[in-house]
Amino acid sequence: EKTTVLITGCSSGIGLGLAVRLAADAARRFKVFATMRDLAKGEQLLERLGGRCPDTLELLQLDVTDPRSLAAAVRCMRGRHPDVLVCNAGVGLMAPLEMCSEQAMRAVFEVNVFGTARTIQAFLPAMKRHRAGRILVSSSVGGLQGLPFNAVYCASKFALEGLCESLAIVLRPFNIHMTLVECGPVHTAFMDNAWRADPDGRELRALDAETQQLYRRYLQHCTQLFLDAAQEVDEVLQVFLEAIAAPRPPLRCITARLPAPLARLRPGGPDGADYVRAMHDFVFGPGEAAEEQP
Ligand code: NAD
Repeated sequence: EKTTVLITGCSSGIGLGLAVRLAADAARRFKVFATMRDLAKGEQLLERLGGRCPDTLELLQLDVTDPRSLAAAVRCMRGRHPDVLVCNAGVGLMAPLEMCSEQAMRAVFEVNVFGTARTIQAFLPAMKRHRAGRILVSSSVGGLQGLPFNAVYCASKFALEGLCESLAIVLRPFNIHMTLVECGPVHTAFMDNAWRADPDGRELRALDAETQQLYRRYLQHCTQLFLDAAQEVDEVLQVFLEAIAAPRPPLRCITARLPAPLARLRPGGPDGADYVRAMHDFVFGPGEAAEEQP
């Protein structure tokens, strides 16, 4: 009997890569339900599998922000339930907070937090009845520590961490293992697909000069960080594959090599000020923080 895997956000990046890897498994151990908002984008997946849809793959339409689409996906599985549920769909938002519109903030939470919660809700009853399974969730290093100009994105991934950590406790007696995969920068179209807070740059020009300058420096830092340190999708997939295969996968897997000045500053340390200082200095260099007012 094949292991049934359902993955959200398979039109690109990590979801696409994972669907291809599992569907192309030489021993054909997996039946992959690769889901995406727009099925027309399934072409890339099929191309990567040599232009055909093998019996190890089924494409399903699934928009995690739409409960009807979720209900339809459940029906399309015709009584099968996922042994492995991979909640991977996610969207970024990088901008000074003043520039993040109500609509942008809500859209990010709608996908990253509520989208994941409702995907799990849809499949959990069947997984619980089966008393076995795994839930893998694409989180982020930004779900463990705050990142400059990623306030809303990090807030959504922190929320995701809390959601899943809480669930993991209750799922233990059901033999369902929860694993959060925290990636750092990965070579995908994630940045291009991120929500555009300010497409024409007008709002940025309306901000105070100092924030504009910090933001520009941050964007340069990001570009450099991606050049120097971004991981390939395959490296990240290895972590997902291990979490699928391990008898007792861990709750958290950080795929990324954290930059040296930040690596030892684990979240939850006694003094968050150390982290804020270290991250500031890492991105903007030392000695830039405003003097404290007496
Ligand atoms: P990506 O943009 O290629 O993939 C995200 C996928 O989610 C896309 O296929 C997109 O269509 C899909 N998606 C967005 N909204 C959706 C919705 N409403 N319903 C269904 N699918 C939807 O980028 P990626 O790097 O492959 O991102 C995958 C996950 O990894 C995301 O959750 C992201 O937050 C996380 N992550 C990525 C990075 C990175 O640097 N690439 C770093 C940390 C975490």
